[in-house]
Amino acid sequence: MMRLPGFRYLAPRSAAEAATLLAEHGPEAALVAGGTDLYPNMKRRQIEPRVLIGLRGIGELRGVEGVARDGLTVRANQTLSEVASDPRIATSYPALARAAGQVSTVHLRNMGTLGGNLCLDTRCNYYDQNYEWREALGFCKKKDGDVCWVALSSPRCWAVSSSDTAPVLVALQAKVRLVGARGERVIPVEALYRNDGIDYLAKQRDEVLTEVLLPPSEGLQMTYWKLRRRDSFDFPILGVAVALERENGTVRSGRIVLGAVTSAPVLADEASALLAGQKLTPDLIDQVAAAARLEARPLDNTDLSMTWRRRMSEVYVRRALRELAGLPLTEGDLPIVR
Ligand SMILES: Cc1cc2nc3c(=O)[nH]c(=O)nc-3n(C[C@H](O)[C@H](O)[C@H](O)COP(=O)(O)OP(=O)(O)OC[C@H]3O[C@@H](n4cnc5c(N)ncnc54)[C@H](O)[C@@H]3O)c2cc1C
Ligand code: SF4
Repeated sequence: MMRLPGFRYLAPRSAAEAATLLAEHGPEAALVAGGTDLYPNMKRRQIEPRVLIGLRGIGELRGVEGVARDGLTVRANQTLSEVASDPRIATSYPALARAAGQVSTVHLRNMGTLGGNLCLDTRCNYYDQNYEWREALGFCKKKDGDVCWVALSSPRCWAVSSSDTAPVLVALQAKVRLVGARGERVIPVEALYRNDGIDYLAKQRDEVLTEVLLPPSEGLQMTYWKLRRRDSFDFPILGVAVALERENGTVRSGRIVLGAVTSAPVLADEASALLAGQKLTPDLIDQVAAAARLEARPLDNTDLSMTWRRRMSEVYVRRALRELAGLPLTEGDLPIVR
């Protein structure tokens, strides 16, 4: 059995106090919300914080505010179960509810939070292993080693962004509020991520993600399609989030975002640009899906083969757009797995 290493647990009463504690303790400290990502990573000695700053007792990080017409504010400590079942989210931001509802298992969704899901560590077959396994291999760049087993000559780590909600929030152009020891700021969710498997978040070390600001929902259509080996529970090996603004059947603008293909959610901008000013016909959808495939470049470091995952990016973009167009999801011999 893998055991947690020893640590000190601090329980601040506000986000500002948590940020101050982060600044005081520096790299020795980490935030913990539901702990469903952090604690397993600590057991595998992937991270070894001496001080944990618990967010669960902070009342201001709970709740959902506003009306969808003007945009909702979802606080960071809302659990994934709460996000999936909130009627305002399920009605006006169904892709977010679907993504949250497809994270792992019911137990983990009852503990895991939206903030934790957005700050989830990147994943890799050579990294998400116990200490002894990684030691036998000589470790890797992401922790304790100096080589990348996925791309031997690569100067960077390619561990994969595996959050289900992040691609949806990037597609929706949602924002996040970050509270730091020296003040707070609001940035697009897209700007929260760096395409780097080690340094994957662009927030400062002392910043706490406190809320997600969803845009006004009027005129927005959206969906999320998740590919994984087991439909009962598994991390995504591909996530396709689409958000469209449509008027009288014509797409004004569209954003297709691919999750789990590299170290950050990727806006497929060439595919997305093909949507503007067009009707969602089967031919257009085929063209857009083929363009999205060229923008998906998964590597061989998650479940199943990268060639198949790349091929599935075209299939899943096509299915997502056909769903939004109200067309049947026919795909020849490929099984439909959502
Ligand atoms: C078996 C298993 C299956 C899983 N399947 C999936 C899956 O399919 N899809 C998926 O997306 N995830 C999956 N997860 C990962 C995890 O359960 C979820 O991502 C969950 O949402 C993490 O939230 P948490 O509150 O538990 O985060 P924690 O574990 O508490 O924290 C995760 C990271 O976020 C940081 N953090 C937490 N809250 C904040 C905040 N407010 N501000 C700044 N930093 C913060 C922590 O420091 C830590 O680095 C799985 C986990 C397991 C164990
Ligand atoms: S991508 Fe390379 S450096 Fe990053 S976790 Fe995997 S093997 Fe390690």
